[in-house]
Amino acid sequence: MKASELNILVVEDDDFQRRMVGNMLRSLGVTAICDAGNGKQALDVLHAANAKTVDIAICDMNMPEMDGMEFLRHLGQEKAATSIIILSTLDRALLASVAKMSLAYGINLLGVIEKPIGLAQLELLISQYARAEIKPQQTVAAAPGFSLEEILFGVREKQFEPFFQPKVDLKTGWVIGVEALARWMHPEHGVIAPYAFINLLEQSSQIDELTFLMLEKAVAASRLLHDKDYAISISVNLSLTSLTDITLANRITQVVRDAGVDPHQIVLEITESAAMTEVAPALENLARLRMHGFGLSIDDYGTGYASMQQLTRIAFSELKIDQSFVKDFATNPALRIIVESSIDMAHKLRVKSVAEGVETQEDWDMLKSMGCDTAQGYFIAKPMNLTSFVEFCAGYSA
Ligand code: C2E
Ligand code: CA
Ligand code: CA
Repeated sequence: MKASELNILVVEDDDFQRRMVGNMLRSLGVTAICDAGNGKQALDVLHAANAKTVDIAICDMNMPEMDGMEFLRHLGQEKAATSIIILSTLDRALLASVAKMSLAYGINLLGVIEKPIGLAQLELLISQYARAEIKPQQTVAAAPGFSLEEILFGVREKQFEPFFQPKVDLKTGWVIGVEALARWMHPEHGVIAPYAFINLLEQSSQIDELTFLMLEKAVAASRLLHDKDYAISISVNLSLTSLTDITLANRITQVVRDAGVDPHQIVLEITESAAMTEVAPALENLARLRMHGFGLSIDDYGTGYASMQQLTRIAFSELKIDQSFVKDFATNPALRIIVESSIDMAHKLRVKSVAEGVETQEDWDMLKSMGCDTAQGYFIAKPMNLTSFVEFCAGYSA
């Protein structure tokens, strides 16, 4: 869409600023420009009978009567098709949180401009609108809802397979590990991701069968990789709920040894989706696993129940910083501080720091400069089947 075809609304209480933005828009070739002095007036403009759809609203934050945040909330609730450019003098951290809020409200945010506003910046954001296909209102992907019975049937039929995602040493660039992530190879629906089955299995305390199926296939893969001379450890996810069964550690150890694999080659990533209720048996299991040589990783560190308290009572060997911190840390100083201090803390506790959700070269470079040990994420590779992973190992060098 060309600038001349756009309908733009400027929402700004300061007359001078409002006129200035209007002039800039005209100089960019925009002709359909309307304005409002606060959020309430802006809503009136949008709701006016026979109003043309507003493509973009350029919106100040601090305004009398209805401020920019409230305006954005209304837009989100109305599922308005208007895209937004935020214009403000607020400090960066606050602007970043306003941006987050907009996304949470489902608003198509083109970007944020700090005042004083520059023509080039404005032009760039508007051209982004022109280029982007307008996203339809976010629809939650219609997940085929599986019942617990269907899932358990699939587990018993061994329809689940591990997919493998490499973990790479940030200093040497070598593949030093791999995480096994469960995929349901559904005979009708194709490859199903974990969100469709893990929660249900955990909530009903029936995840053990899947855990052991994954473990068996992961240790078989471990054998195969070692036979090919790849010195790679394999990480398997273990739900905290499984740890209440006092026999768990010995059963896990048995499976691994039966396959002729040394437990030192296996890392168990403990994912905690609920508060630990039966603490004593869980601690006993974890201590025994560690004693048998398994690596223990605290997964999703920093979120939910994966807390610092865990670090004090469990002999972890690895701290896995959750991807929600890593994903935007290149642009968000607060996240950067959290990631950096987590790495620092891991080192002081003498455990490995792993960052997941590494998606860009920039993420990689920053983690490397922070002294993080290991990286995992789409920047390196997405999870893949065993055949592809073996090929990946043969061809990879960073
Ligand atoms: P997780 O253990 O935190 O695994 C990382 C998830 O992030 C994986 O999702 C992986 O595909 C995804 N991921 C990896 N790199 C990137 C990246 O750069 N960007 C983004 N956006 N995502 C990335 P997946 O495979 O869908 O697994 C989701 C969760 O399901 C896992 O999170 C884990 O908690 C759970 N899960 C998977 N397999 C098992 C299992 O066998 N047992 C148990 N108990 N839980 C499992
Ligand atoms: Ca994990
Ligand atoms: Ca995670």
